[in-house]
Amino acid sequence: MVSLTEVGRSYGKGAHRVDALTDVTTAIAPGELVAVVGPSGSGKSTLLNLIGTLDRPTSGRVVVDGQRVDRLDDRRLSALRAHRIGFVFQQFHLSGGTRAVDNVADGLLYTGMTRRRRRDRAADALHRVGLGHRLEHRPHELSGGERQRVAIARAVVGDPALLLADEPTGALDTRSGALVVQLLRELNASGTTVVVITHDTQLATSLPRRLVMRDGRLVEHAGPSSSGPQPARESA
Ligand code: ADP
Ligand code: MG
Repeated sequence: MVSLTEVGRSYGKGAHRVDALTDVTTAIAPGELVAVVGPSGSGKSTLLNLIGTLDRPTSGRVVVDGQRVDRLDDRRLSALRAHRIGFVFQQFHLSGGTRAVDNVADGLLYTGMTRRRRRDRAADALHRVGLGHRLEHRPHELSGGERQRVAIARAVVGDPALLLADEPTGALDTRSGALVVQLLRELNASGTTVVVITHDTQLATSLPRRLVMRDGRLVEHAGPSSSGPQPARESA
């Protein structure tokens, strides 16, 4: 689904240069559920944005769904993103003043479906995340956990192959966070590849695989059954 080869991303020049990612090589197979962990500033969001084609690497190769991200032009890159990738962010990023069903329906604008059809699909997606009774609510009329479930419905309404979540539970209380994690697991069980950045160690250790970042480098690939840290290894 995703492969990164010797990927680097730096910002700025000269004395101001920041190497946000250095020499990252890894691969994520279709159907995986992967946690990305590491201290603040270690490059997690930079990594997720590259995987999500929101950004291009400064060096190295990024392949998503068989396409070389570092070589696609902007139009093809947006098409890949719209059709194959869903995003969820810590701060939800919903349109204020817009009803839940329309926030979700907007996730289908790229399809050219009629508004009616998009709204039907959006209502289905909201039912799936347990918000069938909140279709007409606006973001400010919803709790944080409900807003995040609307954001998840929007991210998956187009049935993306890859769902990327950047600290999706970071702004939520424990119970709402657990519901969101449960949803990510269900989506993964139904075939979606999921990559989730999290600070929650309990959540991270409960997931099948972890990518551990430090100072812009991938320092560890860990599976659930490992008793301790495994040495970083190359993967294709
Ligand atoms: P994390 O998500 O792990 O907290 P980030 O990927 O956001 O870390 O950032 C990694 C490093 O890159 C940090 O040192 C950050 O300050 C720097 N960085 C991120 N985005 C930019 C940017 N647009 N311009 C300059 N530096 C940036
Ligand atoms: Mg971040």
